[in-house]
Amino acid sequence: VIELGMPTRSVDTTCAYCGVGCSFRAEVQGTGDETRVVRMMPSKDGGANEGHSCVKGRFAYGYTNHRDRQLEPMVRDTIDDEWRSVSWAEAIDRVALGFKEIQRRHGVGAIGGISSSRCTNEEVYVVQKMVRAAFRNNNIDTCARVCHSPTGYGLNQTFGTSAGTQDFSSVEHCDVMLLIGANPTDAHPVFGSRMKRRLREGAQIIVADPRRIDLVRSPHVEAAHHLPLLPGSNVAFINAMAHTIVTEGLHDEGFLRSRCEGVDDYLEFIARDENSPEETAQATGIDPAELRAAARLYAAGPNSAIYYGLGVTEHSQGSTMVMGLANLAMLTGNVGREGVGVNPLRGQNNVQGSCDMGSFPHELPGYRHVGLDDVRAIYESLWGLPLDPEPGLRIPNMFDAAIGGSFKGLYVQGEDIAQSDPNLNHVREALTSMELVVVQDLFLNETAKYAHVFLPGTSFLEKDGTFTNAERRLNRVRPVLPSRTGKDEWEIVCDIATAMGYPMSYPDAAAIMDEIAATTPTFAGLSFQRLDAEGSLQWPVNDQSPHGTPTMHVGQFVRGKGKLIPTVFVPTTETTNRRFPLILTTGRILTQYNVGAQTRRTANETWHPEDVLEIHPADAEVRGIRTGDRVELSSRVGTTTLHALVSERMQPGVVYTTFHHPVTGANVVTTENSDWATNCPEYKVTAVQVGVANAG
Ligand code: SF4
Repeated sequence: VIELGMPTRSVDTTCAYCGVGCSFRAEVQGTGDETRVVRMMPSKDGGANEGHSCVKGRFAYGYTNHRDRQLEPMVRDTIDDEWRSVSWAEAIDRVALGFKEIQRRHGVGAIGGISSSRCTNEEVYVVQKMVRAAFRNNNIDTCARVCHSPTGYGLNQTFGTSAGTQDFSSVEHCDVMLLIGANPTDAHPVFGSRMKRRLREGAQIIVADPRRIDLVRSPHVEAAHHLPLLPGSNVAFINAMAHTIVTEGLHDEGFLRSRCEGVDDYLEFIARDENSPEETAQATGIDPAELRAAARLYAAGPNSAIYYGLGVTEHSQGSTMVMGLANLAMLTGNVGREGVGVNPLRGQNNVQGSCDMGSFPHELPGYRHVGLDDVRAIYESLWGLPLDPEPGLRIPNMFDAAIGGSFKGLYVQGEDIAQSDPNLNHVREALTSMELVVVQDLFLNETAKYAHVFLPGTSFLEKDGTFTNAERRLNRVRPVLPSRTGKDEWEIVCDIATAMGYPMSYPDAAAIMDEIAATTPTFAGLSFQRLDAEGSLQWPVNDQSPHGTPTMHVGQFVRGKGKLIPTVFVPTTETTNRRFPLILTTGRILTQYNVGAQTRRTANETWHPEDVLEIHPADAEVRGIRTGDRVELSSRVGTTTLHALVSERMQPGVVYTTFHHPVTGANVVTTENSDWATNCPEYKVTAVQVGVANAG
């Protein structure tokens, strides 16, 4: 890190990494094109971080002026040709004419778009508008498809809205935390520190995770219970927790009868022997006595909160598991006040916002189904054209349709699907089957290898807009540096729509937020003016909640009564056998972020220059593997090689790696198995074999 001297001024903005959404004061020198960031200082009045930050937000901003940044639009005829720099006008024409020609020959449904959870709400909103109004279909999806789409589905079904229940400050009132499928120390560091602080004050934590993560035991922190459940057994586990609580009479009968529906059916279901800790022990791998003790602790509270991550959602029963967590919270009356609730820890800075903004093929902004005539009428009236009432294609459907020959053109904003999505060989086949792939990004990423048009995007330091963090908090993102490409990202999208025959323009990003507020009741009270004057606000912000909503479902659920839904455990079809006897699960590390496009271009790369495979000593010994050996990791769909790290953090039979480096390409081995409700990939369960790689 090079600190450049004294700043001359500062700009308040928001971190571009994880869903904690820390506020920063960017301190800069110079003006205009000579502006340089001197340092990023965490804001003491940041609603999410209160003056704290982590190694990503504080130091890893250098990628914004990295030499790899592409600053000019580029085109090429085939993916084997060299890129050719062109004017914005030529690039936009190429996109618009190409998409229109595909639609003329193959129908309006032959093209679609993918929006980014790293872009602002305003940028995402205009992408879904372009797809719906200019493409004239609902083939819009978001990279949330591959992370938290089951959260959207599960919490909507049970509570009535697709968002976490609490603000981060709620943890200060929590007595018992149930942490499942998340490693906040690495993935959400500032909130992880806040959890630790509360634990040091006397709260207790139950960690359900296949790995012995930091919050199981670290200085001054010792989990009351570590339940190392086998990957793929989440629903059996949560049912066993609920079974214990119900059959031991620890549930909150008053809360259930006054606040919930579906109670009797659920109680009958969960009390069945098949859901007991003893009957599920073979699936979960957890000692029944330990599980019962954990269930009693959670039920005793008095304030118990659930925190979870992608270890819950990225499974074939991801949506079922989210509903199981909601059931557990309702069963014990742990919803609707401080210190409790169901809290998804969102991976990307704006994954909440990208979902809120209507990036799903079945939902308009605010999670309203495209089939609802009264909702469509709002947009038809404002946008001046009829909208398609049928849901469009999800990302995996787009890939399948491309290989099948009916989907020919794709616009991708800020998402590297050729590195982050599962079964990469399938993704690559889909991309090479298309006639026009348009990538809008900072860098020529893996997906750009299959693109015909590259549109340079802007970094967070050049953006004007808002990000929405995991606690539904809209934070302002303000331009610290002048745009290095000459265009805002929302302007590029408007230009494409206009060139395709649907005129779209806004004077500035604030006007886009005004349109969002005018059309979406949840955001009715929001504007840049208010956010600038009052600081961040948590949605809903409207006449009913004029100052925002730190805690949801107080008094009643958004859907009226909370809905208990029986959650039948269905084992994944991704099972081990003699050829693939180990289970691979994947995750993140502190210094890197997702596919690493940003952090790999900063000094953080020196701390974690490659993805490694963690393996238990017993599994390593029988294979003759030692730390540092190069090993081959194979699944039913692919093979990659990486170095081994023999570690007691793993349990026997389970191996682990991260996916930050394209050279490893961990997703070469992950399969297309996915959540039954949302198609979120089952990244967390892949049957694999590991062996020492052949030299050379
Ligand atoms: Fe950025 Fe997340 Fe770190 Fe905060 S905790 S500084 S939002 S990466």
